[in-house]
Amino acid sequence: MNSFCPIAWPEDPTPESVKNCEECGLYKQGTRMIWGEGNPNAPIMILLDNPGARENREGQPFVCGTRDTLQRAIHEVGLHQDDVYATYILKRRPIRAYDKEKTRQICMQTHLDGQLQKQNPSYVLCLGNVAVQHFFQNPDVDVKSLRGRFHHVNGFQTTVAYHPLAVRRRPNLYQLFVEDLQLIASHITRLK
Ligand code: SF4
Repeated sequence: MNSFCPIAWPEDPTPESVKNCEECGLYKQGTRMIWGEGNPNAPIMILLDNPGARENREGQPFVCGTRDTLQRAIHEVGLHQDDVYATYILKRRPIRAYDKEKTRQICMQTHLDGQLQKQNPSYVLCLGNVAVQHFFQNPDVDVKSLRGRFHHVNGFQTTVAYHPLAVRRRPNLYQLFVEDLQLIASHITRLK
């Protein structure tokens, strides 16, 4: 791997019309909405379970471990920051217990479905079992059984990989993570 320094991807501002969303009640936990990060016109939409913190306790921008690992692998397979956009099943970061299933379904229907239609990415990459099971709408599937190929889901060419946080915790997953990103990179015209 050559030298690489992760940076905070630009935040895609939450649309004015929804930024005070109270649909599922998660707003009561006090975290702000994050609509997405990166290039909204990118060919690849990365789907994570929920946003990580973009600022540290002092309010300074920082790159969390999830983003660090994701950006390293993206760089390693030759993708550029402009090739990707990251968004989430939940647009707010939960910090306490909540009704996971109900909240995820509400947030997807309220925001993600329309966001996908509007941005219309060429590829969707689901990271981790939460994103996979909710995007595929099937609680019985997982990354292990689906990785390594494309699936046609909700009208999108979709592939999956482990969650970057799982990859950080289990470094033996890193090579598989890179392979999964390579699969999607091999379809990006600029890299062919
Ligand atoms: S998690 Fe989603 S649906 Fe719930 S309040 Fe936040 S943006 Fe709205």
